[in-house]
Amino acid sequence: MPEGDILVHAGDFMNAGYDLREVISFNRWLGEQPFAHRIVCGGNHDRLFENAPGHARSLLSNGIYLEDSGATIAGLSFWGSPFTPEFLHWAFMYPRGEKANLHWDQIPDSLDVLVTHGPPYGILDQTTSDGPHLGCEELLNAVRRKRPRIHVFGHIHGGAGIHSEENTIFVNAAYLNESYKPLAPAGQIRVIDL
Ligand SMILES: [Zn+2]
Repeated sequence: MPEGDILVHAGDFMNAGYDLREVISFNRWLGEQPFAHRIVCGGNHDRLFENAPGHARSLLSNGIYLEDSGATIAGLSFWGSPFTPEFLHWAFMYPRGEKANLHWDQIPDSLDVLVTHGPPYGILDQTTSDGPHLGCEELLNAVRRKRPRIHVFGHIHGGAGIHSEENTIFVNAAYLNESYKPLAPAGQIRVIDL
C-alpha cells in the first residue's frame, strides 16, 4: 500500500458476510495500513453490519464506519452509504426507482468525498466494456445535483478505474476482477490529492 493521510474503503470487505472473524481480520489489516485515518462503508457482502450492527461495528475499531452518515476529517467532509440496487439476496439493497432517494436525498451539499458501495448509472458501472450499465440512476442524479469533489465506489469489479468530470472525480476502487482475483497488486490502489 502507498502512504497517505486518509484511506477510504468502499465496501465488501467480507465474503459471504456471516462470520465475525472476517471483520476481526479486516479490522486488523486496516490498523496496519500506513494512514492516519481510515474510512469504511459497507457493501452487499457485509451482511453482519445489517444483521448484527451493534456487534459488527464494535469490532471495527480501526476505522470510521459510515452508513448513510458522514464524518469530517482533517477539514474534509465525507458521507458514505452501503446501499445498492436489488441483486439476488444480499445486504443493504433497495428496489430500483424512487426508493433509492431515501438514501441519496441525505447526501449533504458541498461535500468533499462521497463514498457509496455502488456506482452511479453510466459511470464505471459495467462488468465488461460492452455490458449493460448496472449503476443507480437516482444516485447519478443526486451526484449531478450535489457535486461532491470525489465520488468513490466499487461493487462492479469490471468498472475499476478513474473518470474525471468538471465537478467530480469518479473512482471505482474495485480491487478484484469479476472472478474475485486481484486485478493488479497495488496497481489499483488510487492515491488522490485534495
Ligand atoms: Zn458489492
